[in-house]
Amino acid sequence: MSTEATTKVFTHQTEPFRWEEIPLLAYKEEGTHFHKITRQVLFEGGDKLGCQWRYFEISEGGHSTLEKHDHIHSVMILRGRGEALVGDEVRAIGTMDLVYVPSMTWHQFRANCNDYLGFLCLVNCDRDRPIRPTDEDLRDLRRNPKVADFIRT
Ligand code: MN
Repeated sequence: MSTEATTKVFTHQTEPFRWEEIPLLAYKEEGTHFHKITRQVLFEGGDKLGCQWRYFEISEGGHSTLEKHDHIHSVMILRGRGEALVGDEVRAIGTMDLVYVPSMTWHQFRANCNDYLGFLCLVNCDRDRPIRPTDEDLRDLRRNPKVADFIRT
């Protein structure tokens, strides 16, 4: 993994929501449980800073994976509008809003407001792998009509 982003002192924006020498990556290596979302690692983190700072961008109609995990997310929306599920709550979110995703809490982000949804997401470098819902989890989640209407798998 490149440490470019952590060792380089100044990194300028080259165009809106793109930065010098920071590659535009696939959200995850594989899967059909997400749609129209990209990832850029702004700061890799490492020994002296045990967290990584990423910028994700979902284009219109896209969504992140419905998942949960032990590690937490601290999210700041940087661009556009959309909606997020955290736990059993679905909320409209927009630029400069903050979203905290607690440990072992189902979450998903969507760009469903005819707009981009771009957000910074802070995570531990050392973190567990996300868990996706089982059929039983989905049954439980769908007991809440608002959640049932929102989630994409
Ligand atoms: Mn997550």
